[in-house]
Amino acid sequence: MKKLFPIWLTIDSDDIFHHPKFQGHPTRSNKKDVKNSISEKMRLSFERFNKWHEENIDLPVTIFLIGEQLECEDFKLLLKKLIKKSNELDGKITIGCHGYKHRCWSAFGPDKDGFTKDLQNAKKIIKHHVKNSWRPWFRAPGGYIAPWMAEILRTENFELDSSINPTRFLAIKSGKAEKGFGFNGWNSIDKAMNNAHIIERPWLTTFFPAFPACGPALHFPILKYFANSTWKKFTNYRVATYDEILNKNIKITTVYWHLLDFSKNKGTWVPPLRII
Ligand SMILES: [Zn+2]
Repeated sequence: MKKLFPIWLTIDSDDIFHHPKFQGHPTRSNKKDVKNSISEKMRLSFERFNKWHEENIDLPVTIFLIGEQLECEDFKLLLKKLIKKSNELDGKITIGCHGYKHRCWSAFGPDKDGFTKDLQNAKKIIKHHVKNSWRPWFRAPGGYIAPWMAEILRTENFELDSSINPTRFLAIKSGKAEKGFGFNGWNSIDKAMNNAHIIERPWLTTFFPAFPACGPALHFPILKYFANSTWKKFTNYRVATYDEILNKNIKITTVYWHLLDFSKNKGTWVPPLRII
């Protein structure tokens, strides 16, 4: 039987207009539709997530937030309420960083100054609003990271990154190689994180890692069947403690989904977990 590892549950807070087709991508974005408010789907998602969280209060969950969301009063209130309630019920919500503007950095060439400023702005606004729930943990917007970003994460005092989707057919998303042709590949990112003393927590994939199993893969036609069954199989174990998540010698299984997923199926969707 395959060995199972403790589970780390993570959520990205993207609203509908954070999708690369609207903003943050050099070739895919149509910037006309960008607005910084909150969608009805997000309101419903918050409501449903609250319910799920209350029913699963013992499960530690990390939400990777986008800094600019906290410029929206309505989003801010919903988040504050969620954290307050979680603290009252002894819940275990922690908050990491998903960038300030959800720019897909790896799709552009290296921009060290731009990325540094983005991280500083995001950290400042997120820490200010979530106080003790803050953790210096990063997930790259757009889901992909490039090696040049590792050193900047270290300089900005991040201790953990969770942006690698270790499937071979998505290696093209690891950014253009700085030397020669082709792409960096996940190994070179892993190495860059290691050199920068940042713990890397890649996501769960299916079949020796062939297909993605997290984020959009949970809902993508055909892929979703493999993704859902992989979650059920590999999350049939206990949750990871924060000490385990931060110990690079301990293997864990990292899964991620989107906050907006809770609005799917008329608000009835819940993550396909089997945690004991
Ligand atoms: Zn995102």
